[in-house]
Amino acid sequence: MSSVKSGKSWIRQPIVVVLGHVDHGKTTLLDKIRGTAVAKKEPGEITQHVGASIVPASVLRKVAEPLKKYFPKLKIEIPGLLFVDTPGHELFSNLRRRGGSVADIAILVVDIMEGFQPQTWESIQILKERKVPFIVAANKIDRIPGWKPNHDQPFLETIRKQDPRIVSRLEELIYRLISQLYEAGFMAERFDRVKDFRTTVAIVPVSAKTGEGVPELLALLTGLVQRFMKKRLVTSEEPAKGVVLEVKEEPGLGTTIDVIIYDGVIRRGDTIVVGGKDKPIVTKVRALLMPRPLQDMRAHEGKFVSVEQVVAATGVKISAPDLDNALAGSPIFVVPSEDKIEEYIKIVKEEIESVRIKTDNI
Ligand code: GDP
Repeated sequence: MSSVKSGKSWIRQPIVVVLGHVDHGKTTLLDKIRGTAVAKKEPGEITQHVGASIVPASVLRKVAEPLKKYFPKLKIEIPGLLFVDTPGHELFSNLRRRGGSVADIAILVVDIMEGFQPQTWESIQILKERKVPFIVAANKIDRIPGWKPNHDQPFLETIRKQDPRIVSRLEELIYRLISQLYEAGFMAERFDRVKDFRTTVAIVPVSAKTGEGVPELLALLTGLVQRFMKKRLVTSEEPAKGVVLEVKEEPGLGTTIDVIIYDGVIRRGDTIVVGGKDKPIVTKVRALLMPRPLQDMRAHEGKFVSVEQVVAATGVKISAPDLDNALAGSPIFVVPSEDKIEEYIKIVKEEIESVRIKTDNI
């Protein structure tokens, strides 16, 4: 929602997705992260997007504060983290883009008491296929019998307050995850023992319920993207690129598309090309809609506010004519000038072809 930054290029928020087996705690973890963002944000900061939520840099700084003694070098340079709100691999497969995924990094949630389950193996296969780096949230540590919860504390603090017996049980359970990850083709270690994050997957023990370990999870995501993905995150004041998350009927608006913009800027009135059921759709943005902040919610005003422009990375709802045949999972591009429409239709067609071939292989 912020306006274009000076200098015309900036580092955008990395796009984070949450995957894992059903009931392992994906939704609870996302709720916890969103709750933290709302509770710790500065006044006026917006955390809710359409289909996504932002953890702003100010919140990351506050959350990382108690970790200073463990990670003295962590400096927050990204404007925040953008979490895609719907977890799981159906939605993840809609985040396609040529050569990989719109997701920059993933959290693979595994119930530490259960270990890998069928959808954990599936998720890891998809992440591998799309070349998306990930960290493992070893969730539900509070369910280890005898665990003493310390709400919202870093894992490295709460672990010091547990009985030695509990600590060794936790080690056994983490070791099981390390072997299962090895079987899936990955070297893995508990995050504080990882020597090289390029070759080893970090496991962060957490409880989505009590919040223990969530500070490290957020700090680690931040640290990893800053260290290894900064180049990918540079974006500029160019015509936007995005992906359609969902096609939705909205009362009074007709068919709208919820999109994730991962590059550039989109403005009201821009000509866009979007993938459609039979052929690409060329249309003009009638409105860019963001969730109306809760405090402004009045019965007659509806759920959304209209904005002039949005910049990457963002989740936004687009209202435009002729979107009935739009396809979830297809690319959306802003066309820089009318004479380039044909060129962009071709780009969208090719991109759809290339991602189809990729997904057929899974
Ligand atoms: P999803 O299907 O992966 O989204 O899983 P949910 O977030 O819906 O969680 C499934 C169940 O596990 C719910 O009853 C949650 O309350 C519970 N749950 C999730 N995370 C934790 C946790 O860290 N500790 C405990 N004790 N329960 C949890």
